[in-house]
Amino acid sequence: MKRLHLLLMISLSVVMADSYATGKTVSGIGHYDCNNVFAKILDGKLPATKIYEDNHVLAFNDIRPLRPVHILVIPKGEYRSLVDFSTNASDVEIAALVRALGKVAKIAKVEQSGFSIMSNSGHDGGQTVPHLHFHLLGGTKVHWEEALLQQQIKHKAD
Ligand code: AMP
Repeated sequence: MKRLHLLLMISLSVVMADSYATGKTVSGIGHYDCNNVFAKILDGKLPATKIYEDNHVLAFNDIRPLRPVHILVIPKGEYRSLVDFSTNASDVEIAALVRALGKVAKIAKVEQSGFSIMSNSGHDGGQTVPHLHFHLLGGTKVHWEEALLQQQIKHKAD
């Protein structure tokens, strides 16, 4: 009975966290929401396939990949969007994130073939998770505008 309860709780939290990330766009400014899906991944409350981690950055596979390589690179600090991050993060955090983007491209073996990095900010940008993240897309031609459209179609279908 206890095991069933635990299983139900885990499934429910995954579904809730997932639906949080779908469909609705969010503002890129304002208070940081500690209940967002990436905060839960950082807290270890939700699973993720980790690609890279250091003191300031975590990179993991996107749950709905748009290209063969689709990795999300996020700061560990509580930043809602690029404006928040570039205004409030320390130089060390900012440098760590930029360095991590390059490291992740190498880990994914796309540094030669090429890749695209995209960060959606706020409603017009199509941001759905209120924790700054960079999409690293590769493994085939990216065409980021097309990828962005596909992402929005996927969100609507969920
Ligand atoms: P954006 O729409 O730019 O805010 O991107 C949010 C991204 O987070 C989407 O590409 C989602 O597929 C991805 N995502 C949402 N929930 C999860 C999750 N639990 N694990 C990994 N990626 C997720």
